[in-house]
Amino acid sequence: MPRVCTVRDVDWGGKTALVRVDFNVPMEADGSIADDTRIRAVLPTLAYLRGQGAKVVLMSHFGRPRGGPEPKYSLAPVAERLSALLGDSVQFSAGESVGEAPERRVHLLEAGQVLLLENVRFHPEEETNDSTFAQKLAKLGDVFVNDAFGAAHRAHASTEGVAKYLPAVAGLLMEKELSALGTALNNPKRPFVAIVGGAKVSSKLAVLENLIGKADSLLIGGGMANTFLKAQGREVGKSLLEADLLETARGLLERARERGVRLLIPTDVVVTTSFDDASAPVRTTGVDAVRADELIMDIGPDSLQAYEAEIARAGTVLWNGPMGVFEKPAFAAGTLGVAHALAGSHAITVVGGGESVQAVEEAGVADRLTHVSTGGGASLEFIEGKTLPGVAALKADCA
Ligand code: ADP
Ligand code: MG
Repeated sequence: MPRVCTVRDVDWGGKTALVRVDFNVPMEADGSIADDTRIRAVLPTLAYLRGQGAKVVLMSHFGRPRGGPEPKYSLAPVAERLSALLGDSVQFSAGESVGEAPERRVHLLEAGQVLLLENVRFHPEEETNDSTFAQKLAKLGDVFVNDAFGAAHRAHASTEGVAKYLPAVAGLLMEKELSALGTALNNPKRPFVAIVGGAKVSSKLAVLENLIGKADSLLIGGGMANTFLKAQGREVGKSLLEADLLETARGLLERARERGVRLLIPTDVVVTTSFDDASAPVRTTGVDAVRADELIMDIGPDSLQAYEAEIARAGTVLWNGPMGVFEKPAFAAGTLGVAHALAGSHAITVVGGGESVQAVEEAGVADRLTHVSTGGGASLEFIEGKTLPGVAALKADCA
């Protein structure tokens, strides 16, 4: 993992931790919290800090308010849920994330107490990474802790700017993410099998390029597989296709061959004649017999079996992107099959990506994997090999 200092490198006695968390939780229509996974994910860091006698100030973004306060994007319900999870009352800085009122509250905090600031995106300066705003945030703590891996790919005031004005360290969740993704990618137990799916080659191009330089096997599924199939001269009918990337796909196949990477694309697929009409006929076919009026919606059983065999002999598996349109039950078998294969393997198994993580949860296997990333976009950029601004801003020298 990138060398960063963590909460364990700080002597917390009497200090206030200003902690960036990702409390951007999904909500129900009635304004209640639909899923509190992201809140639970930071409990270890909070327990650690409170156990060390720190005062804790939490900050997060929530939704996409348009440059000012909007009641539906208030973090008030999150403060309530966090209180319930901690079994201890969490203070909430209603109305204000920076300035005199929160500063006064921070001043009155006692060791172990927790204050949640209102949504930092109520200030447009958050996303413009305004230095004055970052300095105002920095006034609310002695040490900056970044535990929001899911927001680390954004250089905003609360993820990057604030680190210029305070010593900055990783929280335990951030550390776990960097360590799991970093080990899988850069220090894998071999064979290293990477599985890449999802809708498009274009959104995963950097991922594919980086993985071809690192993996022993690369298994391709999802809509992007169509572009590879077409690049090999196969009929893909009305399937999702990026015709402008055929040359790119050929280049990737060629690079994989040169580097001795086993690049697998589907040999059979599940097809239908309408993306939206659930009553349209569905059939499984070899990739050589897709008809002009058909769309490829999932990898077929032979492909799944081949992918399972790769997974079974892997030392490390890194998975990003579903194998098919798994949101529709008729086309979920490939994705769920891969999820179960990961759960059954002895390899180090790491999953990143919004929809992939959703699939792993739907398959009910999340707790049987080594690591399921909490960061969609952030894990994607990490797998691309990019340096995340929120990580680059952390201290690397802990002496
Ligand atoms: P992740 O969020 O895990 O990185 P992506 O966002 O890249 O994954 O892609 C997820 C989407 O890809 C899913 O919503 C799925 O329906 C879609 N998809 C997968 N296979 C196909 C396909 N054959 N045709 C069209 N869309 C597909
Ligand atoms: Mg996605």
